[in-house]
Amino acid sequence: MNKIREPVSSIAKMPVLFLGHGSPMNAIGENEFVKGWRNIGKTIPKPAAVLCISAHWETRGTYVTAMDRPMTIHDFGGFPDELYEVQYPASGSPELAMEIKSIVTNTPVGLDEKWGLDHGCWSVIKHLYPDAGIPVIQMSMDYNMSAQQHYELSKELAVFRNKGILIVASGNIVHNLEMVAWNRLNDNYGYDWAIEANEKMKQFILNADHKQLINYKSQGRSFDLAIPTPDHFLPLLYALALQEKEDAITIFNDKPVGGSLTMTSIKIG
Ligand code: ZN
Repeated sequence: MNKIREPVSSIAKMPVLFLGHGSPMNAIGENEFVKGWRNIGKTIPKPAAVLCISAHWETRGTYVTAMDRPMTIHDFGGFPDELYEVQYPASGSPELAMEIKSIVTNTPVGLDEKWGLDHGCWSVIKHLYPDAGIPVIQMSMDYNMSAQQHYELSKELAVFRNKGILIVASGNIVHNLEMVAWNRLNDNYGYDWAIEANEKMKQFILNADHKQLINYKSQGRSFDLAIPTPDHFLPLLYALALQEKEDAITIFNDKPVGGSLTMTSIKIG
């Protein structure tokens, strides 16, 4: 009788996260969303490094940060001094950046020495790993790529799940800043269209119907209002592209904020 062998490597396959990051103030606040990130962090094995795809780093071409010590970028305006004083001193991982560059073949990946960690990344990772003891690198999104191309590119990152790398995509699935009801930031209020788009997206996610999400421009009014620009939505496609058949889907922080944002976050695997 043939014996089934245990794999030689015992590294657990890492889950993939999509985190709705919302306001930069979440970096220093304590609320239900911060709690949600912290709690999900506790369910994940300690990663060798974090690869973050943030809504806030779009470039011509695709880049990965390749410096030893990425700086903390305060890429926002009009917030209290306290927020600008936050530093997230995680080290980088030039080795991981090089490995990504060599493994991804469907588009050239450049090594970046100038960016660092933007708030889409550090404002959430800070809650997962407060001591900044895990190396963190970022990958940019090429604003010339189609949704389908982003999805295909991310598929090539799948091998890193088996190498102890935690891939975190950070955006917001419903994100319309122009329509924010600034007086309703604290009572989980969502416009009808925001709730509708959020619910539809969740159904597509739970049904693994990624095609509908890649075709987000053809989903009608609620999607048009939820995704006025693709930056905060595209990270979701990076996360979903890494989903495999056996992966469980956990949805958390599933609440609207200020009418036109949702904090909906997803753990895959
Ligand atoms: Zn953002």
